[in-house]
Amino acid sequence: MCGIVSILSFEDDISKKLIGALERLEYRGYDSAGLAFIDKNSNLQRIRSVGKIEELRRRINKITIKSNIGIAHTRWATHGKVTEGNAHPHVSNGVAIVHNGIIENYQELKKKLLKENFEFESETDTEVIAALIAFHIKNGNNFEQAFKNTILELKGTFAIVAIYEKETNILLGAKKGSPMAIGFSEDERSYYIASDAIALSSLAKNIIYLEEGDIVKIEKQDKLNYTIFNSSIHMTKRNIIPNNVSLSDVSKNGYETFMLKEIFEEATIVRNIYNNFDYDINISDLDSISIIACGTSYYAGLLAKYWIEDIAQIHVDVEIASEFRYRNPVIFSNTLYIFISQSGETIDTLCAMRMVKELGRKTLALVNVETSSIAREADYMIKLFAGVEIGVASTKAFVVQALSLLLLCVKKQDFKIDFLEDLINSVLNNKYQLSHIAEKIKDSRSFFYIGRGINYPIALEGALKIKELSYVSAEGYPAGEIKHGPIAIIDENVYTIALAPFDKYFEKTISNTQEILARNGKIILITTEKARDHLHGLESSKNVYCVFIPDSDEPYTSFPLITVIHLLAYYTSKSKGYDVDKPRNLAKSVTVE
Ligand code: GLU
Repeated sequence: MCGIVSILSFEDDISKKLIGALERLEYRGYDSAGLAFIDKNSNLQRIRSVGKIEELRRRINKITIKSNIGIAHTRWATHGKVTEGNAHPHVSNGVAIVHNGIIENYQELKKKLLKENFEFESETDTEVIAALIAFHIKNGNNFEQAFKNTILELKGTFAIVAIYEKETNILLGAKKGSPMAIGFSEDERSYYIASDAIALSSLAKNIIYLEEGDIVKIEKQDKLNYTIFNSSIHMTKRNIIPNNVSLSDVSKNGYETFMLKEIFEEATIVRNIYNNFDYDINISDLDSISIIACGTSYYAGLLAKYWIEDIAQIHVDVEIASEFRYRNPVIFSNTLYIFISQSGETIDTLCAMRMVKELGRKTLALVNVETSSIAREADYMIKLFAGVEIGVASTKAFVVQALSLLLLCVKKQDFKIDFLEDLINSVLNNKYQLSHIAEKIKDSRSFFYIGRGINYPIALEGALKIKELSYVSAEGYPAGEIKHGPIAIIDENVYTIALAPFDKYFEKTISNTQEILARNGKIILITTEKARDHLHGLESSKNVYCVFIPDSDEPYTSFPLITVIHLLAYYTSKSKGYDVDKPRNLAKSVTVE
């Protein structure tokens, strides 16, 4: 979600570096972008545009930029429409800032600043930050002090970077609730502040992840140096680590899109997780497990509930983080609390985890980014080994989340990893059939995904994926529930994707598909080879289209089914002509509440 990159350098060509970094941040999702820099005459200049970075690049190419200091941003609007005027950077009296997050007390700060004759030109919460820094400068503080005073007055979540046209050798940043890293170029001639190590993948050899409440000052004298202050404004040190995100992690490797590349990694990645999974977490003595997450990660938790309860016979609750954290949940003592987040920065999951920690309970995080806030703050961590995921709609990360949770409750030596890899590969090899089906279903008014038992969470994931990418409503339902309401929606313009492998639920789910056919609904039946002899002519019905996957039993069958629904969502979006890697309105790492 929204991205920041900024630079203080001995070089003059900062705009190319900033734009290149913004392009690497595109995957996070955004709606407008902008850049500000201070030119050689100490004038602050700003260029902003709505839509793709390409447009910003086009505008920047028309001018000559000679500057050593600049800030840039991709905005995902929270306060104020998607307009050029609301795009960042925001400027007040020579101060320019970029901001990720939400300032919760901006109305009251704005009122105070209006009384002081400050003017506002945008609808954003962000603009108040620039004005507040300018207010403190007007009251006699230098830029650094004005910035610190401002940060202490802000409520909410933020990553902020600021520059000031009268102090052109200082770049200031602050982090609370949103990720932020400092980066150092190999030749030490450029220092950066960014919201994401990916932005700095070709720019910074080493990085530092800031901690909650940190403020950083980067200063240029005869060389560049940096100082970090903690939340009590005392100087502090943070670990420098190599920036091991490489450009190949963020390239498509010959695939048409990142999402297709990532779905195709699902087969190899299961082996990766299996090989690297050596966590010795004994769950057998627990009374229960509570899994807390958002979005796709929440569905991975639901899937795990079926496995863990079935295999280990331990009660599992799965909770949506944004609900859990605002309730007054009963916290049990012999319960393991597991928090799942691909990015490790999902703000609701992070806050839910802090709440459980404050109540003195141990927390286990499943995250794909080892250096993320959730990973750093959890008592224990399982690293997901999914590699960078760029497609906004999560695919391979969902698979690794599910498999990691499964490996908590099965004996690793008994697990048939070769078999699992083959199953997923067989679905990937069948991609043409799925792209053909996508053509058929693309104009469906809405979609139903139905399944029973373990197939139900996969139905939820299928519906979420197709709705994220194709912009039509889609619902995941337990197959047995549709007659309790949703069947009213069925007619000849609605497709139902029925997940019905030949398992103990098969006959029941097939009966449910008959109920849909009786109401002129259309069915895509995803089933296993064994079912061929038990379809009683269903496969030749004109409103039914079957996809057969190889035979297997749980816990294996879920994985090829997941790959099927990922490919189906992918091809449906493609055949509608949408941008699958950057679906509208969505962001990759959800750092606002
Ligand atoms: N709340 C700010 C805005 O709406 C920042 C949004 C973002 O994180 O991009 O402009």
